Amino acid sequence: MATARRWVYHFGGGKADGKGSEKALLGGKGAGLAEMTRIGLPVPHGFTITTDACAQYNQRSGKWPTGLEKQVREMVGKLEHASKKSFGGPNDPLLVSVRSGAARSMPGMMETILNLGLNDKSVEGLAEVSSNRRFALDAYRRLIMMYGSIGQGIDREHFDSAFDEVKQTRTRPRLGRVNGKRILDTDVNAEELDYLVGEFKRIYRVHCGEEFPQNPFDQLKGAISAVFDSWMAEKAATYRRIERITGLKGTAVNVCWMVFGNMGDDSGTGVCFTRDPSTGEPVYYGDVLINAQGEDVVAGIRTPMKLDELKTRMPEVYDQLEAVRVILEVHYKDMQDLEFTLERGKLYILQCRVGKRSPAAAFKIAVDQATKGLISSAAARQLVKKKYLPKKYATAATKAIITKDQAIQRIRDVDIERLFYPIIDRHVPLMELESRMLGEGISAVPGAACGVVAFSAEMAEARADEGAKVILVRKETSPEDVGGMHIAVGILTATGGKTSHAAVVARGWGKCCIVGCDALDIDYNAKRMTLGEKLIREGDSITLDGGTGEIFEGEIPLDRPTTSPEYKTLLNWCDKRRRLGVRANADTPADAKKALEMGAEGIGLCRTEHMFFDSSQPERIRAMREMIIAQLEDKRRRALDKLLPYQRDDFEGIFEVMDGRPVTIRLLDPPLHEFLPKRNNKEALQEVAEDLNITVEQIVRRIEQLEENNPMLGHRGCRIAITYPEILEMQVRAIIEAAINCKERGIKVLPEIMIPLSISWTELMILVGRVRTVADAVLKERNSKVKYLVGTMIETPRAALVAGRMAEVAEFFSFGTNDLTQLTMALSRDDAGRFLPDYVDPHRANIFPVHPFQSIDVKGVGKLVRMACVDGRATRKNLKLGICGEHGGDPASIVFCEELGLNYVSCSPYRVPIARLAAAQAVISATRVAPRVLKSNSKPRSVVRPTKARAKAAKKTTRKTAVRKSSKRKKTKRARA
Ligand code: PEP
Ligand code: MG
Repeated sequence: MATARRWVYHFGGGKADGKGSEKALLGGKGAGLAEMTRIGLPVPHGFTITTDACAQYNQRSGKWPTGLEKQVREMVGKLEHASKKSFGGPNDPLLVSVRSGAARSMPGMMETILNLGLNDKSVEGLAEVSSNRRFALDAYRRLIMMYGSIGQGIDREHFDSAFDEVKQTRTRPRLGRVNGKRILDTDVNAEELDYLVGEFKRIYRVHCGEEFPQNPFDQLKGAISAVFDSWMAEKAATYRRIERITGLKGTAVNVCWMVFGNMGDDSGTGVCFTRDPSTGEPVYYGDVLINAQGEDVVAGIRTPMKLDELKTRMPEVYDQLEAVRVILEVHYKDMQDLEFTLERGKLYILQCRVGKRSPAAAFKIAVDQATKGLISSAAARQLVKKKYLPKKYATAATKAIITKDQAIQRIRDVDIERLFYPIIDRHVPLMELESRMLGEGISAVPGAACGVVAFSAEMAEARADEGAKVILVRKETSPEDVGGMHIAVGILTATGGKTSHAAVVARGWGKCCIVGCDALDIDYNAKRMTLGEKLIREGDSITLDGGTGEIFEGEIPLDRPTTSPEYKTLLNWCDKRRRLGVRANADTPADAKKALEMGAEGIGLCRTEHMFFDSSQPERIRAMREMIIAQLEDKRRRALDKLLPYQRDDFEGIFEVMDGRPVTIRLLDPPLHEFLPKRNNKEALQEVAEDLNITVEQIVRRIEQLEENNPMLGHRGCRIAITYPEILEMQVRAIIEAAINCKERGIKVLPEIMIPLSISWTELMILVGRVRTVADAVLKERNSKVKYLVGTMIETPRAALVAGRMAEVAEFFSFGTNDLTQLTMALSRDDAGRFLPDYVDPHRANIFPVHPFQSIDVKGVGKLVRMACVDGRATRKNLKLGICGEHGGDPASIVFCEELGLNYVSCSPYRVPIARLAAAQAVISATRVAPRVLKSNSKPRSVVRPTKARAKAAKKTTRKTAVRKSSKRKKTKRARA
């Protein structure tokens, strides 16, 4: 007989059916509960319903999979047996909680229903056994509210306003509390709660057309189905889309014994982190609420007390919690966040998971864990003595618990990206800051942000659509707000602690966030808020300092932060570990300086054309335009003579900054029309005509001549140098003269001259010949010696296909993967934005797993790159290989570059640290998976150094064929990276 499929996994009493590694099946929470049970932590008994069951439920349009009900009933029986209580029984009832938990954390996105098993009879039993009728009724009203809103879709507002009404009409007069002074949930007494339970049941009846279910198992079934349903709810789907969470089957459902944090002053609930999630400091960090249930902490409804306070108020409980902290960190070898409940002095751990952290904290934690222990030996001994901590954990907790490699693997590229998030400009005078300060809250996520205030997620999204930077201001946030939270540059809430919904979600995104700003009074209807003495309306600007928790009026200038010592340490470890060189794409001395600061070891791409656009020196673009307008070579050369000193100065500046490091300079690349105004821009045409002292008609005629149907496939790249060799000559002269000047000043120069967009060996041979002729002539004139390399970009498929021959004349290849992707995939870099998002969206066409302009298309474009590497190196063994397309800063592409054995990657200065990290991570992962061996089919060729005669002959031929004629053609703009 076939056995029924297993849908449920038990945990409790030190034993668990599942384990920590089974996240895909049991969800993160379920796997955590199983693992925590196994390592001896005090976890309430329970069971996990698998993600497979959720998938089946959704596939069967809301029908439970066969066998699930039977298995759930058996598990409930097991819990009844272990607790010696009956589920929802009239005397001392066993109650359970039902919580969702997918394989990836989705804070607040899915549902939790507590106190299942309570009904009109068992509530009295609970009241009696707890000797606390208020507590029992409070649990019952929570159940009706959660079950009604989550299970039956009743708007929570109905329950909230009924609760508010009781507070105002019954509690306030009873307490004699003046209007304006807040009534807390805990102020409502048993009698009032009794009435409220009746009201809640009435609301339930009115909206559902039936009574609130009294059968405990019906409640449990309804709650489990509600959690399954929550997986497909809009807010959860939105969150998965934003976070790019794909490939999950559904959510698991965790059913646990209820333990109560609201059983009096020896009970409570808390959320804590084993280290400070904002700074990474090795201090126990958390929020505790006495006499409350877990949801109160996460929802941020009440402002909690710090863990330090618990230490003074309940030192023994604190010590037990400290032992749990140690066990968790030693076991999981990473910072954890955990939820606990204290029931009449007994501690229960309800959940743990890897804790979200700020970027600065990510570095601090990784470096600390790799270099020192979590607690002192004395503190560890103390916990062992009290029998809270097993010895093996105590010993491990005083030493480093991860290796340097593990620390490197721990950091994500977004941690680095976010590390450079803005802070308030240090130059803003303190007096000014003080005068603009509105108030202060709890700093939940560091980084500063300024923008216009929006009081709702919808308004935030609408204003952001108009291009505004928005600060979302809410009393508290809820999962419905995630769209607005995501779009906002900063988030401010009136309530909540560092573990509130707003804080947790914002931290995940590295978004500036301040919570618990008590003084903040928001009037949603009037769309305004008061903070301090000030009235701020929707649309007014404010600035948040997420680092300090301060809120300022208006827009305050922001600045980039300085990096921490741990950041430097970890990146030094990366530098020692990586094999790939990391260079930067930098066009000016200022860019080069930034690149150096970020750890670049050279310049991998200097796009010389950017130098002509310097608006502070209009003479540059003027000379360029003169050169383009000129019809005769003579005139062109005269204009180029004017450009020469500017280019030379720029190159000198870059060489000076990069002293001793290689600098790859690319010869002119864009089509010439990019330097002229658009034909329909009359004003600009007039201005340029006056500037050049010619007529508008003359410019228009030249623009018409230069127009092309497909400029991307037209007269650009090295084709310009084939037609107008004098441009190449000027640029090479400028490079070599700059190099000689620097050398004479004692600066070490390593120029690499790069020819863009080549497609043929003959073409490359002609151009390399010209470069060498000019360079050698200049060196001879100046009686100097400078070693320089001449190479090419591989950015056309043909160049990759004939790379074996290209390497005969090129001393290096640099893969221009922007153009190579464009030309291989026939996807315009400039236009694909209109439809490519559909191709990469897993919820739409889902054709490519990654955006091919962001991460290299390994199967297609990558195949060409691989072939060019293999064939190139077969010809020239020491051929230098690099990449300078945008992919050079993309971690996944860097792994591929490591596999190919490139010499270096080159990317924008701000991505240099990311590339350093990714290059180290690529080496570490490669040691686990044997790297693929590159094999060549082609025979080695002889390396050719073009002779002057050959170059001269080629020059003659190409001159004849140079295109001088232009027809009426369409022109498109070429966006440069
Ligand atoms: C490239 O094509 O990859 C490249 C680096 O050149 P550009 O982006 O300037 O075309
Ligand atoms: Mg290119």
